[in-house]
Amino acid sequence: MIEKREFYINGQWVAPATPRDWAVIDPSTEEPCAVISLGDQADTDAAVAAAKAAFPAWAATPPSERRAIVARILEQYEARKEEFARAISMEMGAPVDFALEQQAPCLPWHTGNFLRAFDHIEWVRPLGAHAPGTMIALEPIGVVGLITPWNWPVNQIALKAIPAMLAGCTCVLKPSEESPLNAMLFAEFCHDAGVPPGVFNLVNGDGAGVGTRLSSHPDVEMISFTGSTRAGRAITKAAAETLKRVTLELGGKGANVIFADADEKAVKRGVLHMMSNTGQSCNAPSRMLVERAIYDRVVEEAAEVAKAVKVGPASEHGRHIGPVVNKRQWDQIQGYIQKGIDEGARLVAGGLGLPEGMNKGYYVRPTVFADVKPGMTIEREEIFGPVLSIVPFEDEAEAVRIANDTPYGLTNYVQTQDAARANRMALALKSGMVEMNGKPRGAGAPFGGVKASGRAREGGVWGIEEFLEVKAISGWTADLAAE
Ligand code: NAD
Repeated sequence: MIEKREFYINGQWVAPATPRDWAVIDPSTEEPCAVISLGDQADTDAAVAAAKAAFPAWAATPPSERRAIVARILEQYEARKEEFARAISMEMGAPVDFALEQQAPCLPWHTGNFLRAFDHIEWVRPLGAHAPGTMIALEPIGVVGLITPWNWPVNQIALKAIPAMLAGCTCVLKPSEESPLNAMLFAEFCHDAGVPPGVFNLVNGDGAGVGTRLSSHPDVEMISFTGSTRAGRAITKAAAETLKRVTLELGGKGANVIFADADEKAVKRGVLHMMSNTGQSCNAPSRMLVERAIYDRVVEEAAEVAKAVKVGPASEHGRHIGPVVNKRQWDQIQGYIQKGIDEGARLVAGGLGLPEGMNKGYYVRPTVFADVKPGMTIEREEIFGPVLSIVPFEDEAEAVRIANDTPYGLTNYVQTQDAARANRMALALKSGMVEMNGKPRGAGAPFGGVKASGRAREGGVWGIEEFLEVKAISGWTADLAAE
């Protein structure tokens, strides 16, 4: 059992002001795997004070030096990636192979993209020949609070802490209390990479304690948040008094529009994407919209694919999916499955209760509902579990209408071999991202949503710009501009 109650503040591991034990539960076994402490206002204030003190020197550090220090985090990752992946696996239930191949590498993947984007940033540049003497300067915003969820924990930390530090900001991370272990390892990576004291700080805690204090703290200039739409609203309100910048990456209810001419792997790909990470991805294609002409065949295939998805403990090697993160999520998912049944959707795979042969662990049966109608609860709300809803549509116009009739707008998916229709759909769908025919977003493409899915773009150059202020300067002399 891991016991780590300290927080990483000003380059040191320090005891909490008032220890408050919190057991991290392994969702595969329902047993505690670690004990941490939840911080409070005093811990948060100490971390913010350290970040504030470190800011002037870090902001004034030449960008190339900041870049070199941040790049060294990757060496720490390389040396300890198995341990890192095991921590993720144990605390949030991702099977070890998935944690090692998909979850943990988010750190080097994103960092590599950020370093490439960073090299193209022009910190001071002329506005243009039409405006002689006017310069545009980019400056770090200041102390930033980073609040992250448990579902892709390293992904979120990398998308925030790396660009914040590159930009010249100093930060205080509050990771999810469900998945603090990988975050504490990340703090060790920063320390061993030589990130100066106070530049990166970590305080464990819950939303009500550390999260709220960070969001309302007068010395925090910005909150970068990923999590539920509910918490995003609470943070925006808490941040209002101090008028900080708030960037939000929130929930989703992605449509995966499958036309009759979709490629032959489209259905399988869509179901497996939905079940991946046990359905706990904000960009999960949770509504499969299917053209009526192929509807019956698709329902049958989707059910077969879901039934073949294996469920098992996170500690075991293999291509199975693990449990969901905790009892609360398990109960909530069961509630949604019951609602689907009650509201008249047709269960074609999975369903209520634990998978056959399992009696412990927060495992969910890979579930598919057919005949889901727009407006049903399972069609509207983010379930955050391995539950797919299949909705029939008649034509392109109806597909667009159903896909867009949701409060969310994160990622939508289109499957068709008609290139003109694919492009039309991509422009008609209201979301921050559209992925067509299984083509992944390019490295460094912006990630983010519209509507209730948030207000932010993370990744690549957009992700660094979130942490920068833009200053317009007039009367700049040409000689100085050349320096
Ligand atoms: P959550 O909102 O419950 O918690 C996220 C983080 O916010 C945690 O660190 C939590 O302690 C903190 N928090 C909770 N209430 C808070 C408050 N009032 N003030 C300050 N902080 C608070 O979300 P979760 O259950 O950890 O994660 C799942 C959610 O995250 C899903 O809705 C999912 O779609 C979303 N998500 C979005 C993206 C994206 O990029 N759009 C990525 C991953 C997850």
